Amino acid sequence: TGLVVAMDGPSGSGKSSASRGVARALGLRYLDTGAMYRAVTWWMLEQGVDLTDPAAITARALDPVLSMGTDPDAPTVAVDGADAAVAIRTSEVTAAVSAVSAVPKVRRRLVAEQREIIGGGGIVVEGRDIGTVVTPGAPVKIYLTASADARALRRTAELTGTTVEAQRAAMARRDTLDSTRKTDPLAMAADAVELDTTALNLEEVIAEVLRVIKE
Ligand code: C5P
Repeated sequence: TGLVVAMDGPSGSGKSSASRGVARALGLRYLDTGAMYRAVTWWMLEQGVDLTDPAAITARALDPVLSMGTDPDAPTVAVDGADAAVAIRTSEVTAAVSAVSAVPKVRRRLVAEQREIIGGGGIVVEGRDIGTVVTPGAPVKIYLTASADARALRRTAELTGTTVEAQRAAMARRDTLDSTRKTDPLAMAADAVELDTTALNLEEVIAEVLRVIKE
């Protein structure tokens, strides 16, 4: 069976670019599990589901049909057959996703689908709970971190119409919401290699991950 590389860490740690770069370098597939939580969240917002009500989220948790494309050069996400790649990146979805990802039925469903996509391996999987919950047997687990300032700066550079201060506050809020739930998906796997990307550029992060994989 093929290699599975678990890439966990908070937003702004450089996970997505590094994960895609590593997959590209090794000819592996790439799965962005955050995009799956975002896709369910986007669908719930479209349907007018009350996201302050966990029971309402639970009742619809299995309804949206997701389809993920795993080419690292052109990852895709479709909901009920329609491309949702742009729609899932809005600030509305980002602000709402923690409420949806905290619901156990949503997590059970998406973890099962993630395991299905991973299949026999040959894939880099990016998320929060990949090394702890989704594939605890993955032979390579990386946990990316970065200082709050570095994370906020990266996020600000990716977006328009925002400030570093606003991003720092929004990220701190999402980190808290993501990590105070029972399953704590932000916890690092005991056997993960922690990589602080604060002072590294993308090429350096990719090189470091490739070095860990070769060990
Ligand atoms: O990685 P990204 O910032 O796009 O993830 C969006 C949200 O999806 C996270 O804030 C978190 O609530 C949720 N998530 C999760 N478990 C994962 C990946 C993402 O709970 N494996």
